[in-house]
Amino acid sequence: MTEIIRVDEEKASIDALKPAIEAVRRGGVVVFPTETVYGVGADAFNRRAVRKIFEVKGRPADNPLIVHVCSMEQVENVAREISDDAKKLMDAFWPGPLTVVLPKREEVPAEVTAGLDTVAVRMPSHRVALKLIEGCETPIAAPSANIAGKPSGTKAEHVMQDFYGKVDVIIDSGDTPLGLESTVVKIEKDRVVVLRPGFITPEDIESVIGKKAVLYEQLKGKDLSKPLSPGMKYRHYAPDADMVVVVGENRDLVIRKISEVAISELKKGRKVGTLLFDDETHAALKKLENLVVIKLCGRDARKAARTLFSVLREFDKENVDFIVAEGRIEDGLWISIMNRLKKAAEGRIIQV
Ligand code: AMP
Ligand code: MG
Repeated sequence: MTEIIRVDEEKASIDALKPAIEAVRRGGVVVFPTETVYGVGADAFNRRAVRKIFEVKGRPADNPLIVHVCSMEQVENVAREISDDAKKLMDAFWPGPLTVVLPKREEVPAEVTAGLDTVAVRMPSHRVALKLIEGCETPIAAPSANIAGKPSGTKAEHVMQDFYGKVDVIIDSGDTPLGLESTVVKIEKDRVVVLRPGFITPEDIESVIGKKAVLYEQLKGKDLSKPLSPGMKYRHYAPDADMVVVVGENRDLVIRKISEVAISELKKGRKVGTLLFDDETHAALKKLENLVVIKLCGRDARKAARTLFSVLREFDKENVDFIVAEGRIEDGLWISIMNRLKKAAEGRIIQV
């Protein structure tokens, strides 16, 4: 049985979170909000509880989890060593949407880190998450709350769909404020590798530690013999519908291609959706209005980040068979948004 508790961020307290705290202490699994997306978590030191997370998500065992902490003491309990650079990043961005990969302590179960000798650690800023961890008096290992491969859960309704009946407690705190998962970084001798882009940008990182921050995706095949982050190889964020992203510098060409692809898929008898960011693009595609399901994520990057996963799930709810999405020029936060969109399309990109 799943107990649902409604706790708004401003009302977060150990008392209000008691059912969830007790469940974690008993070795149970709970769904909780963070400022990025919802997480599905358990006591990071309880290997049986951690195994249940993999079961309820259908997550491959070789994809490690992020350990969520509420204090530096807890970081020291999971990490063998915290470099000066790591400390600087934590001082600058914690609590917040940055995950730092550190050498792991032996006590952290191999289940959490998928057998790696490193552990990914983050201190979230959402008060419900912080109070939950504080009340449990243990770090909480938690991946994003979604069935493996699907868009991450950013609304209570999403996590109910995916986890009602499968976990002990769901904490409903409404929509998650940022909507996109944390930036994951690994600090190396001469550079920082951004394993997953997020709200904290490579420039943010460079400005704090003065080392070059490079996107993992851009290193692929160049000087990496094995994947640094096992999660990167899996299908991710994907709606049930097939999907393509149209990218290019020239907006007129992008718009024309979106229209062409939509019409050609309609001719095959498929229910087609278009995912657009901008009102202008929408206006330019007016002729598709009654033929396809049009959804807008918003022109502003922060709004687009917040709504992307929810919009992807809406297409599935409306039984769309094929989505053609608008690509945007990749700078700042758009790098992270496009990273999720391209993965959702499983790499099917049309360059115009
Ligand atoms: P999620 O829990 O869905 O937000 O995914 C966590 C991400 O962090 C995945 O992409 C994992 O591969 C990555 N990750 C977790 N632990 C490590 C680690 N020790 N080293 C590198 N990447 C990690
Ligand atoms: Mg995930």
